[in-house]
Amino acid sequence: HVYLDNAATTPMAPEVIQTMMDQMEHDFGNASSTHWFGRTAHTVMDKSRKILADAIHAQPGNMVITSGATESNNTAITQTAHTRASLGKHIITTAIEHPSVLQPLKALEKEGFRVTYLPVDENGRISLADFDAALDDDTILVTIMMGNNEVGSRMPISEIGARLVDHQAWFHTDATQAFGLLDIDVQAQHIDMLSVSAHKINGPKGIGFLYRDPKVQFPSLLKGGEQELKRRAGTENIAGIAGFATAVSLITSDEKAKRQSKYLGFKQQIMGALDDAEIPYAVNGDIRPDNVNHVFNIWLKGISTYALQTNLDLAGIAVSGGSACTAGSLEPSHVLTAMFGADSPRLGESIRLSFGAQTTKADIQAFIDALLPIVQRLQAKQSAR
Ligand code: PLP
Repeated sequence: HVYLDNAATTPMAPEVIQTMMDQMEHDFGNASSTHWFGRTAHTVMDKSRKILADAIHAQPGNMVITSGATESNNTAITQTAHTRASLGKHIITTAIEHPSVLQPLKALEKEGFRVTYLPVDENGRISLADFDAALDDDTILVTIMMGNNEVGSRMPISEIGARLVDHQAWFHTDATQAFGLLDIDVQAQHIDMLSVSAHKINGPKGIGFLYRDPKVQFPSLLKGGEQELKRRAGTENIAGIAGFATAVSLITSDEKAKRQSKYLGFKQQIMGALDDAEIPYAVNGDIRPDNVNHVFNIWLKGISTYALQTNLDLAGIAVSGGSACTAGSLEPSHVLTAMFGADSPRLGESIRLSFGAQTTKADIQAFIDALLPIVQRLQAKQSAR
């Protein structure tokens, strides 16, 4: 089996599994306990928190450990909007955010907040002119993803951060797909809040963080204990935190650059094979070294996503028909809709591949070897109709 759905989740690195086994076996204490067991767990947490903070040039005290990016996004949006409602009621986002950003915003709209959804072009990018036009004195929060999970487009995060330096709005970015591929510096990029999930970078599921600038204050989404300096109630997941830190420590700056260029090479390999076989296709988005290059979304003209995905699955190749979160529903992708309109044939004829640290050139060749006969068979079926 070949796994090309790493934007949905990644396999845990062996080093991560080892770290977690050690923690679970030996350091089972509650980090809030004052005895030796608790102190040991707390030490593990402190060391891990420092590794996570260093990865984005933050201070450990500004990292809120959560159950993942969904919780981080919900906290960053709902809790700060409520905290700041007296200063304004306007929020800016994009049309192609993850549901864990869009759904909390929908709920806020019902409460009377006003949300601007910036449109994207055919490459999945917003324009800064649209952003400038949307920003006003009523804006209290800007939430714009760093890299898109369905098409891999990158957003102008540094440019937006710079624009908000003298503005009241707090700037949140969902960096779930970008973390581990792009260099992130929350100071230099003027990012006030940033969400990440560990399982997208060969770490465990159910753990993530929300970075917050010291000026950013909000109450915990979950009501309970005083963990995480009262910003996230609930007993800390020590094994998860330690595993997350191990996953992060495996990704040096060099490693990020190496992965980006490896993934770009995979795209060229696939496009070359499609060209050679004269298969009609188009990339949903553009090919740029500075996108989040593990995501590759292609339109195979005239071939249904469902047929393609099912046949690939039978051939042992795992790809996605969209994002994992919408794949189970019959709704067309809101991302492709925003890029190409609701009537585009691309909505029903595209697949998303996503590469991971463990993906090899041979995996890509196996995908190509499986894909070509499937496409030719499905094309023949179509023309026989
Ligand atoms: N944001 C983006 C861009 C994602 O791709 C995902 C993963 O599906 C999430 C948020 C949510 O992450 P999690 O399911 O780990 O909470």
